[in-house]
Amino acid sequence: MPEVRLVKLRKEFKDIVAVRDVTIAFPTARVTCLLGPSGCGKTTMMRMIAGLEPPTAGDVYFGDERVTALPASKRKIGMVFQYPVVYRGISVYRNIEVPLIEEKLSAAERQRRIHEVIQILGLQESVDKDITQLDNGTRQKVAIARAVARQPQIILFDEPITSVDAEAKVQLKRSLKELTRQLRQTIIYVTHDQTEAMTLADQIALMKDGEIVQLDAPRRLYNRPNDVFGGWFLGNPGMNFFEHDLDTSEGSPRLITPLLPAPVSISGIDGDNRVTIGIRPEHVRIGPEQIPRAVRGAVVRKFIVVGGQYLVSVKLDERILKVKVSPGRGRQLQDEVWVECPLEWITVFGSDGRRIEAQLAMP
Ligand code: ADP
Ligand code: MG
Repeated sequence: MPEVRLVKLRKEFKDIVAVRDVTIAFPTARVTCLLGPSGCGKTTMMRMIAGLEPPTAGDVYFGDERVTALPASKRKIGMVFQYPVVYRGISVYRNIEVPLIEEKLSAAERQRRIHEVIQILGLQESVDKDITQLDNGTRQKVAIARAVARQPQIILFDEPITSVDAEAKVQLKRSLKELTRQLRQTIIYVTHDQTEAMTLADQIALMKDGEIVQLDAPRRLYNRPNDVFGGWFLGNPGMNFFEHDLDTSEGSPRLITPLLPAPVSISGIDGDNRVTIGIRPEHVRIGPEQIPRAVRGAVVRKFIVVGGQYLVSVKLDERILKVKVSPGRGRQLQDEVWVECPLEWITVFGSDGRRIEAQLAMP
Protein backbone atom coordinates (compact mmCIF):
# COMPACT_ATOMS: atom_id res chain seq x y z
CA MET A 1 0.00 0.00 0.00
CA PRO A 2 1.43 3.39 -0.90
CA GLU A 3 1.88 6.18 1.54
CA VAL A 4 0.38 9.49 0.51
CA ARG A 5 2.85 12.31 0.33
CA LEU A 6 2.18 15.98 -0.21
CA VAL A 7 5.03 18.23 -1.20
CA LYS A 8 4.57 21.99 -0.85
CA LEU A 9 0.97 21.57 -1.81
CA ARG A 10 -0.89 24.82 -2.21
CA LYS A 11 -4.35 25.92 -3.20
CA GLU A 12 -5.55 29.44 -3.74
CA PHE A 13 -9.10 30.50 -4.48
CA LYS A 14 -8.61 34.05 -5.74
CA ASP A 15 -7.20 35.85 -2.69
CA ILE A 16 -7.93 33.01 -0.24
CA VAL A 17 -5.09 30.61 0.46
CA ALA A 18 -6.96 27.45 1.47
CA VAL A 19 -3.90 25.18 1.69
CA ARG A 20 -0.53 26.77 2.36
CA ASP A 21 2.48 24.86 1.00
CA VAL A 22 1.84 21.71 3.00
CA THR A 23 4.49 18.99 3.10
CA ILE A 24 3.42 15.87 4.94
CA ALA A 25 3.42 12.07 4.63
CA PHE A 26 0.41 9.94 5.55
CA PRO A 27 1.78 6.48 6.34
CA THR A 28 0.34 3.24 5.07
CA ALA A 29 -1.73 0.93 7.30
CA ARG A 30 -2.47 3.81 9.65
CA VAL A 31 -5.37 6.10 10.31
CA THR A 32 -4.32 9.72 10.16
CA CYS A 33 -6.97 12.16 11.30
CA LEU A 34 -6.83 15.57 9.76
CA LEU A 35 -8.24 17.70 12.55
CA GLY A 36 -8.96 21.39 12.51
CA PRO A 37 -11.68 24.01 12.78
CA SER A 38 -14.16 24.61 10.00
CA GLY A 39 -12.66 26.51 7.08
CA CYS A 40 -9.03 25.61 7.78
CA GLY A 41 -8.63 23.80 4.45
CA LYS A 42 -9.26 20.12 5.24
CA THR A 43 -11.71 19.41 2.43
CA THR A 44 -9.61 21.29 -0.10
CA MET A 45 -6.61 19.19 0.84
CA MET A 46 -8.61 15.95 0.52
CA ARG A 47 -9.99 17.01 -2.83
CA MET A 48 -6.47 17.60 -4.11
CA ILE A 49 -5.41 14.15 -2.89
CA ALA A 50 -8.41 12.62 -4.64
CA GLY A 51 -7.76 14.53 -7.86
CA LEU A 52 -10.99 16.50 -7.66
CA GLU A 53 -9.24 19.85 -7.32
CA PRO A 54 -6.09 20.88 -9.18
CA PRO A 55 -3.43 22.36 -6.89
CA THR A 56 -2.13 25.86 -7.48
CA ALA A 57 1.37 24.57 -6.74
CA GLY A 58 3.10 21.53 -5.30
CA ASP A 59 2.70 17.80 -5.78
CA VAL A 60 0.86 14.73 -4.60
CA TYR A 61 2.62 11.36 -4.50
CA PHE A 62 1.22 7.88 -3.92
CA GLY A 63 4.32 5.98 -2.90
CA ASP A 64 6.93 6.93 -5.51
CA GLU A 65 4.39 7.82 -8.15
CA ARG A 66 3.69 11.47 -8.78
CA VAL A 67 -0.06 11.68 -9.33
CA THR A 68 -0.53 15.45 -9.40
CA ALA A 69 -1.78 15.44 -12.98
CA LEU A 70 -3.61 12.11 -12.81
CA PRO A 71 -7.41 12.42 -13.08
CA ALA A 72 -9.54 11.27 -10.14
CA SER A 73 -10.86 8.23 -11.99
CA LYS A 74 -7.31 6.88 -12.36
CA ARG A 75 -6.28 7.32 -8.73
CA LYS A 76 -8.09 4.26 -7.34
CA ILE A 77 -9.13 6.00 -4.16
CA GLY A 78 -12.11 5.27 -1.96
CA MET A 79 -13.91 8.33 -0.69
CA VAL A 80 -16.68 8.85 1.82
CA PHE A 81 -18.18 12.29 2.16
CA GLN A 82 -20.24 14.08 4.77
CA TYR A 83 -23.50 13.19 3.01
CA PRO A 84 -23.85 9.55 1.97
CA VAL A 85 -23.48 8.93 -1.75
CA VAL A 86 -25.69 5.91 -2.48
CA TYR A 87 -28.04 4.74 -5.20
CA ARG A 88 -31.72 4.95 -4.35
CA GLY A 89 -34.19 2.38 -5.61
CA ILE A 90 -31.89 -0.59 -5.18
CA SER A 91 -31.03 -2.74 -2.19
CA VAL A 92 -28.17 -2.29 0.20
CA TYR A 93 -26.57 -5.42 -1.20
CA ARG A 94 -26.76 -4.12 -4.76
CA ASN A 95 -25.36 -0.76 -3.67
CA ILE A 96 -22.24 -2.47 -2.44
CA GLU A 97 -22.12 -4.85 -5.38
CA VAL A 98 -22.34 -2.42 -8.29
CA PRO A 99 -18.85 -0.91 -7.92
CA LEU A 100 -17.46 -4.44 -7.59
CA ILE A 101 -18.98 -5.46 -10.91
CA GLU A 102 -17.21 -2.49 -12.45
CA GLU A 103 -13.99 -3.86 -10.95
CA LYS A 104 -14.60 -7.10 -12.87
CA LEU A 105 -14.32 -9.36 -9.84
CA SER A 106 -15.57 -12.92 -9.91
CA ALA A 107 -19.01 -13.58 -8.43
CA ALA A 108 -17.48 -15.56 -5.57
CA GLU A 109 -15.01 -12.81 -4.70
CA ARG A 110 -17.76 -10.19 -4.86
CA GLN A 111 -19.88 -12.20 -2.49
CA ARG A 112 -17.00 -12.72 -0.09
CA ARG A 113 -16.16 -9.03 0.08
CA ILE A 114 -19.75 -7.90 0.46
CA HIS A 115 -20.29 -10.39 3.23
CA GLU A 116 -17.16 -9.16 4.99
CA VAL A 117 -18.04 -5.45 5.00
CA ILE A 118 -21.62 -6.20 6.00
CA GLN A 119 -20.32 -8.06 9.03
CA ILE A 120 -17.84 -5.40 10.07
CA LEU A 121 -20.32 -2.56 9.70
CA GLY A 122 -23.22 -4.46 11.23
CA LEU A 123 -25.47 -4.13 8.19
CA GLN A 124 -26.89 -7.66 8.35
CA GLU A 125 -30.45 -6.58 9.01
CA SER A 126 -30.46 -4.03 6.22
CA VAL A 127 -29.01 -6.14 3.41
CA ASP A 128 -32.24 -6.55 1.46
CA LYS A 129 -33.74 -3.20 2.27
CA ASP A 130 -34.02 -0.34 -0.15
CA ILE A 131 -31.89 2.70 0.64
CA THR A 132 -35.00 4.87 1.12
CA GLN A 133 -36.05 2.66 4.05
CA LEU A 134 -32.88 3.46 5.99
CA ASP A 135 -32.03 6.20 8.44
CA ASN A 136 -29.20 8.58 7.73
CA GLY A 137 -26.62 6.73 9.84
CA THR A 138 -27.28 3.40 8.13
CA ARG A 139 -27.11 5.06 4.72
CA GLN A 140 -23.71 6.37 5.61
CA LYS A 141 -22.68 2.85 6.62
CA VAL A 142 -23.71 1.69 3.15
CA ALA A 143 -21.64 4.45 1.57
CA ILE A 144 -18.68 3.35 3.67
CA ALA A 145 -19.24 -0.31 2.79
CA ARG A 146 -19.30 0.59 -0.91
CA ALA A 147 -16.07 2.50 -0.70
CA VAL A 148 -14.30 -0.12 1.38
CA ALA A 149 -15.42 -3.28 -0.45
CA ARG A 150 -13.55 -2.20 -3.57
CA GLN A 151 -10.41 -2.41 -1.42
CA PRO A 152 -8.82 0.77 -2.71
CA GLN A 153 -5.32 1.34 -1.46
CA ILE A 154 -6.14 4.75 -0.13
CA ILE A 155 -9.36 5.69 1.61
CA LEU A 156 -10.40 9.25 2.37
CA PHE A 157 -13.16 10.08 4.80
CA ASP A 158 -14.38 13.67 4.92
CA GLU A 159 -16.47 14.22 8.08
CA PRO A 160 -18.47 11.03 7.48
CA ILE A 161 -20.43 11.25 10.73
CA THR A 162 -20.87 15.00 11.04
CA SER A 163 -24.41 15.08 9.64
CA VAL A 164 -25.61 11.86 11.26
CA ASP A 165 -27.93 12.27 14.26
CA ALA A 166 -26.48 11.85 17.75
CA GLU A 167 -27.73 8.33 18.45
CA ALA A 168 -26.52 6.86 15.17
CA LYS A 169 -23.25 8.73 15.61
CA VAL A 170 -22.11 6.65 18.57
CA GLN A 171 -22.86 3.45 16.70
CA LEU A 172 -21.23 4.62 13.49
CA LYS A 173 -18.14 5.72 15.35
CA ARG A 174 -17.86 2.26 16.88
CA SER A 175 -18.22 0.61 13.47
CA LEU A 176 -15.61 2.90 12.01
CA LYS A 177 -13.21 2.08 14.81
CA GLU A 178 -13.69 -1.62 14.15
CA LEU A 179 -13.36 -1.12 10.41
CA THR A 180 -10.24 1.01 10.52
CA ARG A 181 -8.62 -1.49 12.87
CA GLN A 182 -9.05 -4.17 10.24
CA LEU A 183 -8.10 -2.18 7.18
CA ARG A 184 -4.48 -2.11 6.14
CA GLN A 185 -4.88 0.79 3.75
CA THR A 186 -3.69 4.34 3.98
CA ILE A 187 -6.57 6.08 5.67
CA ILE A 188 -7.01 9.81 5.96
CA TYR A 189 -9.96 10.85 8.05
CA VAL A 190 -11.09 14.46 8.21
CA THR A 191 -12.94 15.82 11.19
CA HIS A 192 -13.39 19.01 13.17
CA ASP A 193 -14.35 16.93 16.22
CA GLN A 194 -11.49 16.28 18.61
CA THR A 195 -13.09 13.32 20.40
CA GLU A 196 -13.66 11.62 17.07
CA ALA A 197 -10.01 12.17 16.16
CA MET A 198 -8.79 10.99 19.56
CA THR A 199 -10.82 7.77 19.26
CA LEU A 200 -10.02 6.84 15.69
CA ALA A 201 -6.55 8.14 14.94
CA ASP A 202 -3.20 6.41 15.09
CA GLN A 203 -1.88 9.87 14.52
CA ILE A 204 -3.42 13.31 14.21
CA ALA A 205 -2.45 16.04 11.79
CA LEU A 206 -3.62 19.22 13.41
CA MET A 207 -4.49 21.89 10.87
CA LYS A 208 -4.92 25.63 11.19
CA ASP A 209 -5.30 28.30 8.48
CA GLY A 210 -4.17 26.01 5.66
CA GLU A 211 -1.15 24.67 7.50
CA ILE A 212 -0.32 21.51 9.44
CA VAL A 213 0.64 22.66 12.91
CA GLN A 214 1.63 19.25 14.26
CA LEU A 215 1.60 15.58 13.25
CA ASP A 216 1.72 13.29 16.26
CA ALA A 217 0.16 10.44 18.17
CA PRO A 218 -3.09 11.64 19.81
CA ARG A 219 -1.77 11.47 23.38
CA ARG A 220 1.44 13.25 22.54
CA LEU A 221 -0.41 15.98 20.66
CA TYR A 222 -2.71 16.39 23.63
CA ASN A 223 -0.05 16.39 26.31
CA ARG A 224 2.72 18.17 24.42
CA PRO A 225 1.22 20.47 21.82
CA ASN A 226 3.85 22.13 19.63
CA ASP A 227 1.84 25.27 19.45
CA VAL A 228 -0.55 27.21 21.69
CA PHE A 229 -3.19 26.43 19.07
CA GLY A 230 -3.01 22.70 19.92
CA GLY A 231 -3.26 23.48 23.61
CA TRP A 232 -6.29 25.64 23.03
CA PHE A 233 -8.09 23.59 20.37
CA LEU A 234 -7.77 20.22 22.12
CA GLY A 235 -9.30 19.56 25.48
CA ASN A 236 -12.59 20.56 26.94
CA PRO A 237 -11.88 23.21 27.99
CA GLY A 238 -8.39 23.67 26.54
CA MET A 239 -5.18 24.57 28.34
CA ASN A 240 -4.87 27.40 30.81
CA PHE A 241 -2.42 29.95 29.47
CA PHE A 242 -0.43 32.51 31.43
CA GLU A 243 1.88 35.02 29.78
CA HIS A 244 4.94 36.16 31.68
CA ASP A 245 8.03 38.25 31.25
CA LEU A 246 10.95 36.33 32.68
CA ASP A 247 12.80 37.78 35.63
CA THR A 248 16.48 38.28 34.86
CA SER A 249 17.38 40.47 37.82
CA GLU A 250 19.53 37.73 39.32
CA GLY A 251 21.39 36.76 36.15
CA SER A 252 19.96 33.48 34.93
CA PRO A 253 16.30 33.77 33.99
CA ARG A 254 13.55 32.87 36.39
CA LEU A 255 9.87 32.37 35.95
CA ILE A 256 7.65 34.03 38.49
CA THR A 257 4.04 33.01 38.19
CA PRO A 258 1.00 32.87 40.45
CA LEU A 259 0.77 29.16 39.56
CA LEU A 260 3.85 28.36 41.64
CA PRO A 261 4.70 29.25 45.23
CA ALA A 262 8.25 30.38 44.41
CA PRO A 263 10.28 31.52 41.39
CA VAL A 264 11.64 28.64 39.32
CA SER A 265 14.73 28.65 37.16
CA ILE A 266 14.11 28.26 33.46
CA SER A 267 16.66 27.10 30.90
CA GLY A 268 16.65 26.25 27.20
CA ILE A 269 14.63 29.31 26.24
CA ASP A 270 17.13 30.67 23.75
CA GLY A 271 16.92 34.34 24.56
CA ASP A 272 13.12 34.62 24.50
CA ASN A 273 12.25 36.76 27.48
CA ARG A 274 8.53 36.58 27.19
CA VAL A 275 6.89 33.18 27.46
CA THR A 276 3.44 31.68 27.68
CA ILE A 277 3.06 28.75 29.99
CA GLY A 278 0.23 26.28 29.58
CA ILE A 279 -1.26 23.60 31.76
CA ARG A 280 -4.30 21.42 31.15
CA PRO A 281 -7.19 21.71 33.66
CA GLU A 282 -6.94 17.98 34.46
CA HIS A 283 -3.22 18.14 35.17
CA VAL A 284 -3.62 20.54 38.06
CA ARG A 285 -3.84 19.01 41.54
CA ILE A 286 -6.25 20.61 43.92
CA GLY A 287 -7.43 20.06 47.47
CA PRO A 288 -9.06 21.71 50.46
CA GLU A 289 -5.86 21.42 52.52
CA GLN A 290 -2.38 22.65 51.95
CA ILE A 291 -0.25 20.33 49.81
CA PRO A 292 3.46 20.74 49.05
CA ARG A 293 4.38 23.10 46.19
CA ALA A 294 0.84 24.43 46.13
CA VAL A 295 -0.49 27.96 46.08
CA ARG A 296 -3.63 29.19 47.74
CA GLY A 297 -6.63 30.25 45.69
CA ALA A 298 -10.31 31.00 45.90
CA VAL A 299 -13.04 29.04 44.17
CA VAL A 300 -15.08 31.43 42.07
CA ARG A 301 -17.11 28.92 40.08
CA LYS A 302 -17.77 25.23 40.20
CA PHE A 303 -19.95 23.10 37.98
CA ILE A 304 -20.37 19.55 36.76
CA VAL A 305 -19.32 18.74 33.22
CA VAL A 306 -19.67 15.72 30.94
CA GLY A 307 -18.56 12.53 32.68
CA GLY A 308 -19.56 13.82 36.12
CA GLN A 309 -16.31 15.65 36.64
CA TYR A 310 -16.16 19.07 38.19
CA LEU A 311 -14.76 22.07 36.44
CA VAL A 312 -13.55 24.53 39.04
CA SER A 313 -12.45 28.10 38.37
CA VAL A 314 -9.88 29.17 40.91
CA LYS A 315 -8.73 32.73 41.38
CA LEU A 316 -4.98 33.09 41.89
CA ASP A 317 -3.89 36.67 42.28
CA GLU A 318 -6.03 38.33 39.68
CA ARG A 319 -6.05 35.41 37.30
CA ILE A 320 -8.36 32.47 36.81
CA LEU A 321 -7.10 28.89 36.61
CA LYS A 322 -9.51 26.21 35.40
CA VAL A 323 -9.15 22.84 37.13
CA LYS A 324 -10.91 19.59 36.32
CA VAL A 325 -11.37 17.04 39.08
CA SER A 326 -13.19 13.85 39.96
CA PRO A 327 -16.73 14.13 41.40
CA GLY A 328 -15.52 13.06 44.87
CA ARG A 329 -12.81 15.68 44.99
CA GLY A 330 -15.00 18.31 43.35
CA ARG A 331 -17.66 18.04 46.04
CA GLN A 332 -15.08 18.71 48.79
CA LEU A 333 -13.94 22.00 47.37
CA GLN A 334 -15.31 25.13 48.95
CA ASP A 335 -14.14 28.74 49.07
CA GLU A 336 -10.48 28.28 49.83
CA VAL A 337 -8.36 25.69 48.02
CA TRP A 338 -4.75 24.77 47.36
CA VAL A 339 -3.60 24.08 43.84
CA GLU A 340 -0.41 22.48 42.64
CA CYS A 341 0.79 22.74 39.05
CA PRO A 342 3.34 19.93 38.62
CA LEU A 343 6.35 21.23 36.69
CA GLU A 344 6.29 18.22 34.37
CA TRP A 345 2.82 19.24 33.19
CA ILE A 346 3.71 22.82 32.42
CA THR A 347 4.37 23.47 28.75
CA VAL A 348 6.37 26.52 27.77
CA PHE A 349 5.69 28.45 24.56
CA GLY A 350 7.75 31.26 23.05
CA SER A 351 6.43 34.64 21.98
CA ASP A 352 5.66 33.16 18.53
CA GLY A 353 3.33 30.62 20.17
CA ARG A 354 5.57 27.63 19.41
CA ARG A 355 6.59 25.21 22.16
CA ILE A 356 10.06 25.58 23.61
CA GLU A 357 11.97 22.64 25.08
CA ALA A 358 12.51 24.57 28.28
CA GLN A 359 13.44 23.03 31.60
CA LEU A 360 11.84 24.32 34.75
CA ALA A 361 13.42 23.62 38.11
CA MET A 362 12.55 24.46 41.66
CA PRO A 363 15.39 26.27 43.38
P1 ADP B 1 -12.69 22.83 5.83
O1 ADP B 1 -12.98 21.57 5.07
O2 ADP B 1 -11.53 22.70 6.77
O3 ADP B 1 -13.89 23.36 6.53
P2 ADP B 1 -12.38 24.02 3.20
O4 ADP B 1 -11.26 23.29 2.56
O5 ADP B 1 -13.75 23.64 2.79
O6 ADP B 1 -12.23 23.95 4.78
O7 ADP B 1 -12.20 25.57 2.92
C1 ADP B 1 -10.99 26.25 3.14
C2 ADP B 1 -11.12 27.69 2.69
O8 ADP B 1 -11.22 27.74 1.26
C3 ADP B 1 -12.35 28.39 3.21
O9 ADP B 1 -12.01 29.74 3.43
C4 ADP B 1 -13.33 28.27 2.08
O10 ADP B 1 -14.27 29.32 2.08
C5 ADP B 1 -12.43 28.34 0.86
N1 ADP B 1 -12.96 27.56 -0.28
C6 ADP B 1 -13.14 26.23 -0.33
N2 ADP B 1 -13.59 25.84 -1.56
C7 ADP B 1 -13.71 26.98 -2.29
C8 ADP B 1 -14.14 27.25 -3.64
N3 ADP B 1 -14.51 26.27 -4.46
N4 ADP B 1 -14.11 28.55 -4.04
C9 ADP B 1 -13.72 29.53 -3.21
N5 ADP B 1 -13.31 29.35 -1.95
C10 ADP B 1 -13.31 28.09 -1.47
MG1 MG C 1 -14.74 20.38 5.04
